[in-house]
Amino acid sequence: MPERILILGGTGEARRLADGLVERGYDVVTSLAGVTRQPALPKGKVRHGGFGGVEGLTEFLSGERFSLIIDATHPFAAQMSAHAFAAALRCSVPLTRLERPAWEKPRDGEWQSVANFAEAFDAISAGGTVFVTTGRKNLHTLAEYPSLGGVVRSIEAPNAPLAAGWSLILDRPPFDIDHELGLMRQNHITHLICKNSGGTQMITKVKAANTLAIAVLVIERPVKPPCLTYSSIPALLEAVGSLHLPR
Ligand code: NAP
Repeated sequence: MPERILILGGTGEARRLADGLVERGYDVVTSLAGVTRQPALPKGKVRHGGFGGVEGLTEFLSGERFSLIIDATHPFAAQMSAHAFAAALRCSVPLTRLERPAWEKPRDGEWQSVANFAEAFDAISAGGTVFVTTGRKNLHTLAEYPSLGGVVRSIEAPNAPLAAGWSLILDRPPFDIDHELGLMRQNHITHLICKNSGGTQMITKVKAANTLAIAVLVIERPVKPPCLTYSSIPALLEAVGSLHLPR
């Protein structure tokens, strides 16, 4: 029987990692939260939906005999990472993390770091036209800022209609610089709010905003529990190989 590896997914990196491990002969199960309607699926087995908190994940792990858990969730998926840390500890299953490096703030300070969505909005004065690219969460709070409006871009539709003064663009990356410049010009954007997701594609909107002298508010990453973390797929594949798990 090949050793089993659980990947907590929801990112492109998780998918590519699963593909790489399956190609190397491992028995891989990728877990997806089930929030994306038509997710691109990795090789190997896939399960969908939450586990039911730490208790549910502990129960799941107890019945599955995984040799390794790889937390390859998005840098902002803090709850899943915390649950994985707690359940892995309880079940004595080794846990490692794949996390793309955060963007480094340029020396000349071309963005303002903020801790969360509310802090980002509090930093914008009345009348601002804001481009929001932070995903579906928190959009219900837009109504708390009636003096602001703008554009929300999301891959999936929000659960409820946006507040008055906001329009929605449903679209999926990658977006090139000309696309981002055009969108920001066309909508007379004055501020960009985004997450410090990292990655080379996602920084394009920040570059476009800087080009147009649009103020950028970057929500910094939540702190995740400490565990051995790899920032690249090849490095993690090599590390898994060196564990000498039978295939
Ligand atoms: P979260 O706040 O950390 O997790 C919320 C709950 O969703 C978890 O407690 C868990 O439910 C379930 N969940 C999350 N990831 C899961 C996974 N891989 N497999 C099974 N259940 C999972 O996560 P989130 O920020 O809502 O993100 C949800 C998913 O979207 C994650 O897989 C993440 O990688 C992906 N994603 C997130 C972002 C972002 O900006 N947050 C961006 C791109 C992709 P239970 O407690 O019931 O187990």
